[in-house]
Amino acid sequence: AKSRMEDKEGEKTLRSPICCIMGHVDTGKTKLLDCIRRTNVQEGEAGGITQQIGATYIPAENIRERTKELKADALLNVPGLLVIDTPGHESFKNLRSRGSGLCDIGILVVDIMHGLEPQTIESLNLLRMRNTEFIVALNKVDRLYGWKACRNAPIGKAMKQQSKGVKLEFDHRLTQIIAQFKEQGLNTELYSKNKERGETYSIVPTSAISGEGIPEMILLLVQWAQKTMIEKLTYSNEIQCTVLEVKVIEGLGATIDVVLVNGVLHEGDEIVVCGFQGPIHTTIRSLLTPHPMKELRVKGAYIHHKEIKAAQGIKITAQNLEHAVAGTALYVVGPGDDVKELKESVMDDMRNVMSRVDKS
Ligand code: GDP
Repeated sequence: AKSRMEDKEGEKTLRSPICCIMGHVDTGKTKLLDCIRRTNVQEGEAGGITQQIGATYIPAENIRERTKELKADALLNVPGLLVIDTPGHESFKNLRSRGSGLCDIGILVVDIMHGLEPQTIESLNLLRMRNTEFIVALNKVDRLYGWKACRNAPIGKAMKQQSKGVKLEFDHRLTQIIAQFKEQGLNTELYSKNKERGETYSIVPTSAISGEGIPEMILLLVQWAQKTMIEKLTYSNEIQCTVLEVKVIEGLGATIDVVLVNGVLHEGDEIVVCGFQGPIHTTIRSLLTPHPMKELRVKGAYIHHKEIKAAQGIKITAQNLEHAVAGTALYVVGPGDDVKELKESVMDDMRNVMSRVDKS
C-alpha cells in the first residue's frame, strides 16, 4: 500500500510539514510557540488554528494571512504546518519512527544576548544526526538597547525603524553568532542575505514578546520545507505514526498520544505498539482530538473521529495500553499483514529507542 496519492490533475497531494522547536533553556521556545499559536493575541482571534494532542495545527489560510505583507502567498502549496507543542519534552530526544525522525523541519532557537549555549549545540547535533532541515530563530531582538517595538511586524520592516545604534549592536551580535556556528562547522547567514540555501542555514531575527520576525519565520519554514522535501511531504497511504506519550485519563484509562505523520487511522483499526512487557496488539476504541480552542475549558471533553488523516496529533484509547513505550512506532494491521512480523518490528523499535536513551 505504498502508492502515492495524486489528485485529479495528477498533481501530488502534500501533507503538512511537522515542525519542532529546539534550543537551550530560556531562549524563548515556549514563548515562540505562543506566538505561533497566537495564544497571546488580545483579540483572541486565532484564525483557524487548532490545538491538537501534542501539537498545534496552523492552516494555510492562517499562514497566508500572517505573511501577506511579505507578498509570497502564491508559493504556498502545503495544507498547513503542524508544530509539535512540547519543546522540552522528555521523550522527545528519543523520538523516532522507523527510518526517519518525527519532525520534517526544526526551529533552533538562540538568544541573541547569549549566543550559542550548551543545549544549543546539543540540539544542533541532534538535528544533524537525523538529517533534519532547520532554520535558526535569533530570538529576543527586543532586548537590544533602544529597540523600538513594531508589534508582529516583519523583521525587515521592523529593522528599518531602528536607530543606528540598535543596528550596530545587532550586526555585532549577529557576526559573533555566525562565527560561533562556524566553530561548530555550520555555515549560517541572515535569511535575507542567504543565497546558498542548503549549504548555508538561514537565521531569522525574532522577538517572541513583541512578535517581530514571526511572519518571516513561518514563511521560511514552509518555503524551505516545500523546496527541499517534496518527496517526504507527498501524502502516502502508508501509516507512519509515532507514540508521543502514554497517559492515564480519568474515565478513559490508559491512552496514547500519537503524531500521525502519514496515512489514515480509523476507529476499529487493529494496531500493534511496543510495550515494556512485550508487544501490544489491540483495537482502536476511539480517536480523539480536543475541541476548538475557545472550548478548551470544557475539561475532559474530546471530539470523536471515525477516521483521521495525516498529519495530525491524536489521542487513542484502546485496551492494554498501560505499558506502551513513548517514542516508538505504531503499526496498523492491514489485510495480509503478518501480526507476528509487526510485533517483531515494534520491539526492534524499542531496542533502538533504548540504545539512544543509554547514549544520552
Ligand atoms: P524556554 O525555556 O526556551 O521555553 O523559554 P521561555 O519561552 O519560557 O522564555 C524564557 C524567558 O524569556 C521568559 O521569561 C520569557 O518571557 C522570556 N522571553 C522569551 N522570548 C523573549 C523575547 O523575544 N524577548 C524578551 N525580552 N524576552 C523573552
